[in-house]
Amino acid sequence: MSSDRVVKYIFVTGGVVSSLGKGIASASLGVLLQSRGLNVTILKCDPYLNVDPGTLSPFQHGEVYVTDDGAETDLDLGHYERFLNKSMSKKNNTTTGQIYYEVISRERRGDYLGKTVQVIPHITDEIRRRITDVAKSEPDLDVVITELGGTVGDIEGAAFLEAIRQFTLNAGDRNVLNIHLTLVPYIKAAGEMKTKPTQHSVMKLREIGIQPDIILCRTETALSDDLKAKIALFCSVPTRAVIDARDLPSIYEVPLGLHEGKLDDIVIEKLDLKCGAPNLKQWSKFVEKINNPSHHVKIAICGKYVDLHDSYKSIIESFVHAGGANDAHVDLKWIDSEKLEKDGVEKYLDDICGLLIPGGFGDRGIEGKIKAVRYAREKKIPFFGICLGLQCAVIEFARNICGLQDANSMEFNEETEFPVIDLMEEQKRVKYMGGTMRLGAITCHLKKGTKSHAIYDSETIQERHRHRYEVNNKYIPDLERNGMIMSGKNTELDLVEMIEIKDHPWFIGCQFHPELKSRVLSVHPLFADFVSAALKYKKRV
Ligand code: GLN
Repeated sequence: MSSDRVVKYIFVTGGVVSSLGKGIASASLGVLLQSRGLNVTILKCDPYLNVDPGTLSPFQHGEVYVTDDGAETDLDLGHYERFLNKSMSKKNNTTTGQIYYEVISRERRGDYLGKTVQVIPHITDEIRRRITDVAKSEPDLDVVITELGGTVGDIEGAAFLEAIRQFTLNAGDRNVLNIHLTLVPYIKAAGEMKTKPTQHSVMKLREIGIQPDIILCRTETALSDDLKAKIALFCSVPTRAVIDARDLPSIYEVPLGLHEGKLDDIVIEKLDLKCGAPNLKQWSKFVEKINNPSHHVKIAICGKYVDLHDSYKSIIESFVHAGGANDAHVDLKWIDSEKLEKDGVEKYLDDICGLLIPGGFGDRGIEGKIKAVRYAREKKIPFFGICLGLQCAVIEFARNICGLQDANSMEFNEETEFPVIDLMEEQKRVKYMGGTMRLGAITCHLKKGTKSHAIYDSETIQERHRHRYEVNNKYIPDLERNGMIMSGKNTELDLVEMIEIKDHPWFIGCQFHPELKSRVLSVHPLFADFVSAALKYKKRV
């Protein structure tokens, strides 16, 4: 790669309503540019005041996505990693909270030398600095896509849009491109698609000083040429720069849909990018596979946040990838652990071929999860416990196999006689809740001869963590004596990272979050093997 390369910038803003899929659109554009040999990364700007989403309830925000370097970030970073097949870092997500924190800390240090500190230029400079910082995060980047959360017109997003305006003005011709994603709704009563919300949204953008180069229109069905021409006219873009982003059966079809609309051609032309023809063979093959599965298998997810599926985003996507690898579609059955606690397990679990207990916090619904683990263990249904799921499995085993009556985690009962799950020493001293869990990629050593070792086919692995509690080492001899295997360990801190049990076809728990590392082109081995075990179970019963 030549050293005189210029990094090009693409901004993706949204209008009309939120949840239009800017994250998927950004990640899909990334895939299209990557498929032509370009090196791409993505920055997500979140306009809220939280420093990061780490302290937000999953009910509010959905999943908190953790990077290798231990940042707690927006779930869109998960889409970026899954689509681009590369790891993001803390630099790839910034929030208003972080930006103000930085600027106010500088002010307190006296760095501004008597000046009045203001949104323009100090906050907007810091936003621009973070964008160019991402461009320097890899030596050979071609394109940085910056996705701005929220919609145009939000008070919260104003400083970011002003920074984008300044950036566009200063970066030089053909170095910056603005894409605006809007909604073109179908109004049933009129029997028509309406372009007015898009016109208004673009008007708002232009008021701020940003002229979009490309308008991506979310629609239920294809946009007619007439409507494209109308939007083009009102929004001052060429007709071919109005591209429909139709609803598609799967998010993984979006790159192909946008390619059909020639999004990548226009981007390349406008930014004068030197690159080859697209190669989307592998991607299309994957889509083909997940769209035409030979088998179906029902797997239950038993958790507390099941009403908001976004809380388990990475797990859901990992099952799509793992289904693809097994020529199967995984039908997820969502089970509210509180209901299961009240109504009993049979009612919910008698038709499943696998049970996954995901991560979570707090004691609500815990007894339901523990009952579910017992059912899966006794009925020999494949069981996969992630983080809190592992902790529930250890509690269940301690109570019902080791005879440690009322064994529990200190998180749920500080009075328990048998605290089989406890806080690490250093966690006991934690006062600030933000960013202080055990976070990010940590090495784990796998025990030879275990199922975990065979699945990973490796002695050491790196997986991402987000928790405060651990298996209490004091109880390991008792657990082992009764048939639980500590199959993965962090040898440095002497912590249990993985467990499995003897005499069960598939019963694995991990203290880390494997779902954060499953990607379209590199399916996570634990998910792939779990789905395969569920398929085998289905054949048996
Ligand atoms: N609440 C548990 C802990 O902090 C589990 C966390 C999780 O599942 N991510 O250890």
